[in-house]
Amino acid sequence: MICFDLSEDQKQIQELARDFSQNEILPKAPHHDQTGEYPLEIIKKAWELGLTNLAIPESCGGLQFGVMEDALISEEFGAACTGISTAISANNLAEAPIIVGATEEQKQMILGPMTEECILGSYCVTEPNAGSDVQGIQSTATKKGNDYVINGTKMWITGAGHANWFFVLAYTDKEKGFRGMSAFYVPADTPGITIGKKEQNMGQRASDTREVIFEDVVVPENYRIGQEGKGWLLAMAAFDHTRPAVAAGAVGIARAAMEHSARYANERKAFGRPIGKFQGISFMIADMVKDIEAARLLVWKACYEKDQGRKNTRFAAIAKVFAADMAMRITTDAVQVFGGYGYSQEYPVEKLMRDAKVFQIYEGTSQVQRIIISRDVLQEYR
Ligand SMILES: Cc1cc2nc3c(=O)[nH]c(=O)nc-3n(C[C@H](O)[C@H](O)[C@H](O)COP(=O)(O)OP(=O)(O)OC[C@H]3O[C@@H](n4cnc5c(N)ncnc54)[C@H](O)[C@@H]3O)c2cc1C
Repeated sequence: MICFDLSEDQKQIQELARDFSQNEILPKAPHHDQTGEYPLEIIKKAWELGLTNLAIPESCGGLQFGVMEDALISEEFGAACTGISTAISANNLAEAPIIVGATEEQKQMILGPMTEECILGSYCVTEPNAGSDVQGIQSTATKKGNDYVINGTKMWITGAGHANWFFVLAYTDKEKGFRGMSAFYVPADTPGITIGKKEQNMGQRASDTREVIFEDVVVPENYRIGQEGKGWLLAMAAFDHTRPAVAAGAVGIARAAMEHSARYANERKAFGRPIGKFQGISFMIADMVKDIEAARLLVWKACYEKDQGRKNTRFAAIAKVFAADMAMRITTDAVQVFGGYGYSQEYPVEKLMRDAKVFQIYEGTSQVQRIIISRDVLQEYR
């Protein structure tokens, strides 16, 4: 049986997230967009309400919710401001490889305190010369006695300026390619870490992205997550958990663009009638609604597969690429519906168009998602 109804718990979470978005995120979104100020107070309030860190296991004091619950929150937050939403959800990406690959003792050490206070983590994989090509990273972790010494520069790290800890991917044996990569938990106050300046990005300006430099950063052996050589697998497995929620954020921003467009199309008149009466505009809005529905179903499918305990890599990539490309198209069309006013900062849709772009870039570009999908399909039909 196929059921599209949410459970009572899921409906409550969705409603809580919707209220929070409307009352706490939306009113403050223009301020954070214009100033680039990090929304720490909003993050703390979301944490207090239990709208963050959903996947932390019950054994560590967490809620141990599924990916679906994360996606429901992400769509609501995304409909209000994806910059603030990305800042709130940076923890999800940092936590995911810990949940997948850490020992119970490590989970208690890293994730336990996150249920007691608003602690922030960042996922450090990308480097100045290696983004899509993760194997091209140059960071190293050299074993010295019972410690590892980490050296390297990470780039575009979301939340880095406010993180309490980092998930770091580095080579322990460069000769072995991706099988020579290992993953580490690194507290942000470890000597040798330098945080760069906040990047001045096109959109999602509330979110904080920075370079993080590791110079002879010493961490004990028990800060290695998973076995030596398994780091790449953990870093990639994290995306099976997080991409559906990222895709849901893209659904949220597209939904906001569609709602603004529909209202404006009813109000704005040209040639003596509302522009919504012209097929050129009304069909654009019909396409928005159709594509948002399709994207949401793909998101729910990717969540469902994961929450059933099945491998969802292909579905997560499908949801991410479809939703990201759809959000870029719909927010661009929303600017078109608004005409000249769409191009002005006085109206809401130009921000949506700027904010939408990064969905096609972070957590794997739209090209990378197509690589993942096509590799999987070609393998199946070999
Ligand atoms: C706002 C923001 C936040 C981010 N947050 C984080 C974070 O928290 N942690 C983190 O580790 N990283 C983060 N990233 C980095 C992000 O994941 C990378 O930017 C992304 O993976 C692309 O890598 P790149 O920028 O090096 O582009 P490149 O890999 O250099 O790609 C450039 C272009 O070439 C295309 N391309 C590359 N290889 C292929 C191929 N084989 N086939 C077809 N096309 C290809 C890409 O799709 C892209 O269009 C963030 C980035 C941004 C912009």
